[in-house]
Amino acid sequence: MINLLNFDLSQLTAYFEQIGEKPFRAKQLMRQMHLGACGDFDAMTDIAKSLREKLKTQCEIRPPDIVREHLSADGTRKWLLNVGQGNAIETVFIPEENRGTLCVSTQAGCALDCAFCSTGKQGFNRNLTTAEIIGQLWVANQALGVTPKNERVISNVVLMGMGEPLANFDNTVSALKIMLDDHGYGLSRRRVTVSTSGLIPQMERLSQECPTALAVSLHAPNDDIRNQIMPINQKYPLKDLMNACLKYLQFAPRDFITFEYILLNGVNDQPQHAQELLDLVKSVPCKFNLIPFNPFANSPFRQPERDSVLRFRDILNDFGIVATIRKTRGDDIAAACGQLAGQVKDKTRRTVIVDKLQK
Ligand code: SAH
Ligand code: SF4
Repeated sequence: MINLLNFDLSQLTAYFEQIGEKPFRAKQLMRQMHLGACGDFDAMTDIAKSLREKLKTQCEIRPPDIVREHLSADGTRKWLLNVGQGNAIETVFIPEENRGTLCVSTQAGCALDCAFCSTGKQGFNRNLTTAEIIGQLWVANQALGVTPKNERVISNVVLMGMGEPLANFDNTVSALKIMLDDHGYGLSRRRVTVSTSGLIPQMERLSQECPTALAVSLHAPNDDIRNQIMPINQKYPLKDLMNACLKYLQFAPRDFITFEYILLNGVNDQPQHAQELLDLVKSVPCKFNLIPFNPFANSPFRQPERDSVLRFRDILNDFGIVATIRKTRGDDIAAACGQLAGQVKDKTRRTVIVDKLQK
């Protein structure tokens, strides 16, 4: 069976052409499938019956199954999704006053092995398909429903869940196209953010094939420290990364890069690190998102004191750089940054989850 969630509009149109259907039918189906969050061909009554019957014989609309859903005290919701062969991924919805952000995963595990990241410590399992990436919006949309004004609740998407989006380039780009398509989720490019650890060639490809807002995980003011906590820096060092950011901005829908910077107690959170950082980014229009480290089991790092976080922010602010401290959301359900799949890794709970996955 062909899973239609794997197709962006041009891929769906090409498939329809193959089966002798007109392009406008592909748009119709896209709308039903994504905007309408409909997975049942029989319920798509505005689509010709003959087409529905044809599709039923060879296609399906199959999002990943929900293994578990958690609701945090602060309203954050997390879904654990089964992607087969004992692999689970997580999707997190963060409601705020004027927006609702969905944090989406792109890989089961991650190969890049950043020292402070729970997903990285889990190792790499596999790339998610387009259906599994966009299926996270599908599942969340269905669960969240619509507002009283009949609007969808997800207004922003960040690819900041498990995995490195740009290491799963083709499937991620197809999923991005569906998010942006008027017949898909209709999100603005400025409200869809790809977060990368800094894969330079793929950043350039993204700027050409599907530019969105970009967040770059910086986390260190110099190559010495970055080499130690992010092995990818040995391949793509900071000077090249800064140039790649500047290049990206020529095509980006926003006029700044968001730099994510985890504060690790005693490692990269001192005033001299902030000073050094100012020098590093001086030619790149940017904002900073400071993320106090979220601890997980067996991690060697500690969260900094609140005072050093504020001091770090003030040094950037005084220089005229907007720097915000990321509020930790959903940490009571292990949904905060870098905590995703912590539970799958945890041996005692793993058995429970794997049992469910194999059912
Ligand atoms: N692979 C991509 C996107 C997923 S990680 C990337 O690295 O950018 C999303 C963000 O969470 C990244 O900025 C990442 O560095 C951060 N993160 C990872 N582990 C964390 C932890 N333990 N505490 C806080 N943030 C963490
Ligand atoms: Fe992978 Fe991002 Fe975690 Fe690094 S921080 S291991 S790139 S998911």
